Amino acid sequence: MKGSATEQQVLHWLGQSHDAMVELLRRIVDIDSDSYHKAGVDAVVSVLREYLESSGVACEIRPNSTYGNCMRAVVAGSDGTQERPVVLMGHCDTVFPQGTAAQRPFQIEGELAHGPGVADMKSGLVINSFVLAAFAKAGAPLPLVGLYTADEEIASPSSRAFIEAGVVNARAVLNSEPARPSGNVVIGRKGALFIDFEVTGVPAHSGVNHQDGASAIEAMCRKVLKLHRLTDYPSGVTLNVGLISGGSSVNTVAPIAKASLDVRFKTLEAMKDVRSRLGQIIDEVEVPRTSARITQERNFLPLVQTPSSQALFASYVQAAAQIGFQVEGEFTGGSADSGFTAAAGIPTLCATGPVGGKVHTGEEWLKLSTLVPRAQAIALTALRLAG
Ligand SMILES: [Zn+2]
Repeated sequence: MKGSATEQQVLHWLGQSHDAMVELLRRIVDIDSDSYHKAGVDAVVSVLREYLESSGVACEIRPNSTYGNCMRAVVAGSDGTQERPVVLMGHCDTVFPQGTAAQRPFQIEGELAHGPGVADMKSGLVINSFVLAAFAKAGAPLPLVGLYTADEEIASPSSRAFIEAGVVNARAVLNSEPARPSGNVVIGRKGALFIDFEVTGVPAHSGVNHQDGASAIEAMCRKVLKLHRLTDYPSGVTLNVGLISGGSSVNTVAPIAKASLDVRFKTLEAMKDVRSRLGQIIDEVEVPRTSARITQERNFLPLVQTPSSQALFASYVQAAAQIGFQVEGEFTGGSADSGFTAAAGIPTLCATGPVGGKVHTGEEWLKLSTLVPRAQAIALTALRLAG
């Protein structure tokens, strides 16, 4: 089947854009933008906005006083409509602290690029932006929206509402997290709960009046053992207390203990079940005169397969084949914003970004030759959804 003139024009223009993509990527990788560094995330958004607006794509900033600003970019459909868009999504934050870009700036070695966030997911932001630009130039047959978010790496406390509002009535969501090192995209993800909690005890001198104390550390340890016992590999539920601290001195019965818990699950039902059980364990008073409370809680919803998301994946596979690469779908225990859009009932495909690996480490890499084909596959998938 021969594609339409618009299709040819979009694919051709993207095909010519490799060097420009690398240049835009260099600019945003060299800006530190960890999730808590508002000025850095804002600067990444500004650079992308400048590129998009100069390419004829309208942008709106959704300001935030604590976290980075989010941005919505829109290319209206040929009849001027913004109804039922295809949404291209990506996060502008990284896990790397300020100073990282100065230490190891964007660098190309052979066919790989390196630098903080080069794969996760600044290259995904770049190709999303180029697809939007291509649609603006060629005249899109359907509306295309880009959602640029600010704080995915800390479970999107500020961006979640922006995402949920931004995908109402969307035809589909393509989230440009990096494709797996194998080249595969992601069709299922676990959801996650991140819970900080603390136990308060009663301090006492551990030599002089031990019996007057109530140890927050002992209470915490008992809770940790019980929480870990909720892990159930066959159903995919895991619990991990990854951080713990407590006490005030070796000879004081501990007045306080704190812990951070990471819980993963495959379905919303599993989330509700494990949440209620872990809540009981945290609330339960096993050591008299201690008490416990949750101080912070965030979650990612799971990306669960539905018939409509399977159909979206099938059309992506077909588009990829036309561009010239083969791709399969895989499941990962890692969580992402795509869980929110899937839970909102929107067909969602994740990891449509360029191929990369060793994310969240100093050896993070991006395969440069995948910038153009992954952008073309997104564009073709979106165009086919117009039919
Ligand atoms: Zn990411």
